[in-house]
Amino acid sequence: MRIGLYPGTFDPMTLGHLDIIKRAASLVDRLVIGVAINRDKGPLFSLEERVAMLEAESARLSVETGMEIRVHPFENLLIECARDVGAGLILRGLRAVADFEYEYQMVGMNRVLDNSIETVFLMAEARHQAIASKLVKEIARLGGDVASFVTPAVHAALRAKLGR
Ligand code: ADP
Repeated sequence: MRIGLYPGTFDPMTLGHLDIIKRAASLVDRLVIGVAINRDKGPLFSLEERVAMLEAESARLSVETGMEIRVHPFENLLIECARDVGAGLILRGLRAVADFEYEYQMVGMNRVLDNSIETVFLMAEARHQAIASKLVKEIARLGGDVASFVTPAVHAALRAKLGR
């Protein structure tokens, strides 16, 4: 069984993330979505809320893709999380050039820590490529419509969180 780990902050989950999750189905039998606690980033949604949003989509996505999906919060090193869940692959999404620099360093460092785990990069379809959780939050905070970037459930969660 091929197990892949798709790590991120998912604050909140967007259609960009879902696009990558669907694409992962052609590469792995089981996808573990690793939700980083990421206190440094000062997330808008708590870890429990972020996990719940992903879990709510997982059942449907699992049927749609035929891939087993698990949601796994983690606070330790990414490479340790990959070992814990038995993943031989780490999946990451790649957007613009700006993502590249950081991902390049991460792969380089992670390789030194464990050379047996390969990182694979996927790109979302064009209309999902520019979506970033950070911008979704900014637009929602300023009262803009984020319906094209997130699921209806996440849209409702954003409205509830921001009191709109
Ligand atoms: P992180 O804090 O690890 O960057 P994110 O939740 O922002 O967490 O993103 C998780 C992963 O999903 C990253 O690999 C990121 O590049 C990818 N990703 C997020 N949005 C998109 C998108 N619109 N298209 C492709 N990949 C994306």
